[in-house]
Amino acid sequence: MENCIFCRVAAGSAPARVLFADDDVVAFHDIAPRAPVHVLVIPRRHITSLAHAEAGDAAVLGSLLAAAAEAARRAGIVDSGYRVVANTGADAGQAVPHLHLHVLGGRPMGWPPG
Ligand code: AMP
Ligand code: ZN
Repeated sequence: MENCIFCRVAAGSAPARVLFADDDVVAFHDIAPRAPVHVLVIPRRHITSLAHAEAGDAAVLGSLLAAAAEAARRAGIVDSGYRVVANTGADAGQAVPHLHLHVLGGRPMGWPPG
């Protein structure tokens, strides 16, 4: 997926401020943060969205969620609280077609989201 920006981030061929990474996932700071802390967590392997995940992806989905919690710990927002979001498809406004979790925190947030 050489035209996928997040595949390129995962491969190290596009720049990113990486918070941490392992064999399965990469966590990096969003280029246009919507909160004082705004980290994206992606699987290294291309999955277009949560709607495209299959039964065999269960382990990497678990790794993504665990990485979101680790990102929040490293960013120091566990005590204040944070939100984890997976925009999926058109109505959710998904702009990048490579599955990613947003980890947002550092300010109070409204509910429901717009
Ligand atoms: P979504 O609307 O859920 O698809 O969110 C995509 C997010 O990716 C947005 O918050 C963008 O600011 C962010 N983004 C797009 N390109 C990059 C990039 N090269 N590095 C970091 N964040 C990016
Ligand atoms: Zn990709």
